[in-house]
Amino acid sequence: MNVPGSRGARDSHPADVAIIGAGVVGTAIARTLACQDVSCVLIDAANDVGTGTTKANTAILHTGFDTVPGSLESRLLRRGSALLRDYAQRAGIPVERTGALLIAWNAEQTAELPAIAGKANRNGCTDVRPVGTDELYRREPHLGPGALGALEIPGESIICPWTTPLAYATQALAVGARLRLRCRVTGIRTGDTEHQVVTSTGVVRCRWVVNAAGLYSDVIDRMLGGDGFTIQPRRGELIVYDKLARPLLGSILLPVPTARTKGVLVAPTVYGNVLLGPTAEDVADREERATTGAGLTLLLEAGRRILPGLVTEEVTASYAGLRAATADRDYQIRVDRARRYACVAGIRSTGLSASLGIAEYVAGELAEAGLRLAGKPEPDPPVMPYIGQAGTRPYADAARIAADPEYGRIVCHCERVTRGEIMDALASPLPPADLDGLRRRTRVLNGRCQGFYCAATVAALFAGTGPVPAPRSPTQASVTAEPA
Ligand SMILES: Cc1cc2nc3c(=O)[nH]c(=O)nc-3n(C[C@H](O)[C@H](O)[C@H](O)COP(=O)(O)OP(=O)(O)OC[C@H]3O[C@@H](n4cnc5c(N)ncnc54)[C@H](O)[C@@H]3O)c2cc1C
Repeated sequence: MNVPGSRGARDSHPADVAIIGAGVVGTAIARTLACQDVSCVLIDAANDVGTGTTKANTAILHTGFDTVPGSLESRLLRRGSALLRDYAQRAGIPVERTGALLIAWNAEQTAELPAIAGKANRNGCTDVRPVGTDELYRREPHLGPGALGALEIPGESIICPWTTPLAYATQALAVGARLRLRCRVTGIRTGDTEHQVVTSTGVVRCRWVVNAAGLYSDVIDRMLGGDGFTIQPRRGELIVYDKLARPLLGSILLPVPTARTKGVLVAPTVYGNVLLGPTAEDVADREERATTGAGLTLLLEAGRRILPGLVTEEVTASYAGLRAATADRDYQIRVDRARRYACVAGIRSTGLSASLGIAEYVAGELAEAGLRLAGKPEPDPPVMPYIGQAGTRPYADAARIAADPEYGRIVCHCERVTRGEIMDALASPLPPADLDGLRRRTRVLNGRCQGFYCAATVAALFAGTGPVPAPRSPTQASVTAEPA
């Protein structure tokens, strides 16, 4: 699928930059460069943006309090988190500043808290503070017995991982970037002045290549002659609990991290559910996204200790995501002027939060290496449909329903998604390619019945065979989708 106006091999001029991978990192880079008048082609093998690791994570907007001070991750996460917080507010991306409590459950972990607070300070999080046992149980009365104390990290927040890349891509398209979906990169031919990116749907010519291919970034790197790193997929399994579990906690409940993982946490989601996870298990297969009996058992044991009431609540879904880990703990971001190539890899556990910081850094490094940026102020972001639980959604907005009754016609009753929202998504500048894409844009099929009651109606609306109302205007008329 080409969206919009992608001409690929038929282009008479090469693009300035081809970005391989339309996850949260690639879309962030595309929007940042395109807003500076850089001609960009964003390429992804999947049928939509944000379908890789980006759609299956813990959805926390991290402050970076626990990163390695002085690392690139620490710097870009701190910066990216601040940029995204501001961007989200303007773009209508759901964010809730719940804060986090990092809880010590034994004497050894209690002894580690001052060092973690010191590290947080060195990472610029100066508002982290100790919380005694009494205050901890007052704030989180459903916590399991045995907690000895905690650190409060007030800035930790929850965010919508689906709207974020959609907002970036929508903005990139609006300022002229081209998006090639269902387009797998299979090779790269490098000449003196341009690259020819060979894909499953033709050749894309460009001056620079940005490799943001996540789990496959080492494969793309080798296409450009690199062999500096190997991706080791690290699976994280999660359980999603029903909205009825939401009152069980106020903040994100974190464990004391180990050298290998941040550990199993309990967190609210911006859709009003509760998440338990993730596990951390190295797997051989980059497509191994199935949940396992062992993983879910481990999570239930951890959940029972942290929040005993949680494990008797109803489970809505479970899923797994794969972290793109490398032997190096830090991000692997390098710009090679001679090869006209930027490698943006090893964005393991924090890429959603750091995405705008990474994009800003990559753009700066590319400019240093000779890519021309316009140097102009950024345009306002697009205003995305709001799908969070904390704000007002269309079904509860009397004025909106009065203006258009389609916003009063609920199709998905679990998530209270209206026909108006579904029709808006289908007419949007970046429409969904399937029901999963529609789910990420509206929350439809995402509730406790997982589509049992509304799937047929939703599928008919999606296919255009249902009782569809008159066509609605796209939110940004300048961008249209082309057929594949
Ligand atoms: C369990 C888990 C929990 C996490 N929790 C958080 C969290 O709470 N907060 C946070 O900030 N981060 C979190 N992360 C990390 C975050 O999800 C990732 O860092 C981020 O999504 C990486 O984005 P990306 O764009 O680099 O990769 P991806 O989203 O994987 O995108 C890469 C894209 O490249 C495309 N691609 C690959 N090869 C090719 C090819 N040959 N041709 C064309 N396209 C190709 C893929 O289709 C894919 O869409 C978590 C990760 C996991 C797994």
